[in-house]
Amino acid sequence: SVRVRFAPSPTGYVHIGSLRTALYNYLYAKKNNGKYILRIEDTDQTRFVEGAIEGMLSSMGWAGINHDEGIVMAEDGQLLEKGDFGPYVQSERLPIYKEYIEKLIKSGNAYYCFCTKERIDKIREDQKAAGLLSKYDGFCKSLSEEEITRRKEAGEPYVVRLKLPNNYDIAFNDVVRGNVVINTEDMDDQVLLKSDGFPTYHFAVVVDDYLMGITHVIRGEEWLISTPKHVYLYEAFGWNPPQYVHLPNILNADKKKLSKRQGDVAVEDFVKKGYLPEALVNYIALIGWSPEDNQEIFSMNELEEKFSLERVSRSGGVFDINKLNWVNSHYIKEASIERITDLAIPHLINAGYINSEEVAERYEWLKDMVEVLKESISYVAEVTEKVDIFFKTEIQPEDDEAKELLKVEHMALLLDTLIEKINATNEIESDFGKKAFKEIQKETGIKGPMLFKPIRVAITGKAHGPDINLVIKVLGKQNLLSRIQYVKE
Ligand code: GLU
Repeated sequence: SVRVRFAPSPTGYVHIGSLRTALYNYLYAKKNNGKYILRIEDTDQTRFVEGAIEGMLSSMGWAGINHDEGIVMAEDGQLLEKGDFGPYVQSERLPIYKEYIEKLIKSGNAYYCFCTKERIDKIREDQKAAGLLSKYDGFCKSLSEEEITRRKEAGEPYVVRLKLPNNYDIAFNDVVRGNVVINTEDMDDQVLLKSDGFPTYHFAVVVDDYLMGITHVIRGEEWLISTPKHVYLYEAFGWNPPQYVHLPNILNADKKKLSKRQGDVAVEDFVKKGYLPEALVNYIALIGWSPEDNQEIFSMNELEEKFSLERVSRSGGVFDINKLNWVNSHYIKEASIERITDLAIPHLINAGYINSEEVAERYEWLKDMVEVLKESISYVAEVTEKVDIFFKTEIQPEDDEAKELLKVEHMALLLDTLIEKINATNEIESDFGKKAFKEIQKETGIKGPMLFKPIRVAITGKAHGPDINLVIKVLGKQNLLSRIQYVKE
């Protein structure tokens, strides 16, 4: 049965591309009634970032990409193991790697190498100068047993390298890429075990995928060039390699690999801005995979049902923020007012529109306000750019169009009539605006845009904005009266 894994290195934030890799693994497992495993690849201790595992787990939890086995976070924040194939953190598997490296050395597929960094650097330099592929020259390949024992006992630092045969074709099949063949002449005797006793990624990934029963390796395209090494290791151990699936890169609008410099790429950035998890998941599912029809909105359940590796594309997919915004605004419109209000409140507090003490008391009002804005925002943080119309006390025309509208001849007539209507009611109910506009039209003969546009400017200072009836309701009687008074003077 299908067993897939997402294997992040805890080196910082979760890149949107990693979220997609995790998602595709998850979807493939779901679709095939398989298991989705989360393994932490922390063999490069120099790149370890404190808190990265926790951050990654919370991003995954937020997105609803939940694993069946691996590292999970308990309520108290502690990291726990879940599943029968652990440990799921590579730094806790060092004895296992030791055992398997010894097997490889014994079978003649790996060798000790005592070369110093200086020597290796020198070889590289010379090769580079000669325009050759940089690779280890095999100096330690034929050291005698005695010499190895002596130097190890003397405490000389060493690494263990993969011993590749000469001029040998390594072939494998990739679901996205088809058949790939590479000759060992174009490959290096990869370091498998480092001098600090830690395995390299290449060695650990093979041992772990094998021991964890991984059937499909679904990962980013950047690992494609390493795959021959992995395939050769499977061969050396006498194991069957998994099915490989290398996912196309996610690109910027300028077709370069998506990077932090051009904008948000960390999942946390999108969380902070108020993207909804179902929107981000929906959108990233479509970068690099397409359904058979033109469906664009997918729930997680639908993705689980429809996802297939065969429809993963070969070429990179462009990350289009406008498309994401469109998908997100769709989900915001569908979400409950409470949910969006709760997400909006921290942004409103941060921007200084309200303070945390008044939230409870003004919650109903906040909900009314968010209901108006909900229709026109792409992400929740955007409320702070649109909310000012509800908090102004002095209405000033915002631009030339508003200025012109404020000067229309019939403004005084409109406002006086509106004031009458407002005064005649105790509280502004949601149907007040509609009724009032109808009556004003009847009484003054002014209608359409010439009726509501000047009123909108008088009340908000803007020529455009959300439904004026809703705005009137949210503002309430006192606010309306004082704004109109201000404009009249
Ligand atoms: N640890 C690797 C990474 O951070 C995983 C690569 C793989 O899936 O084999 O991307």
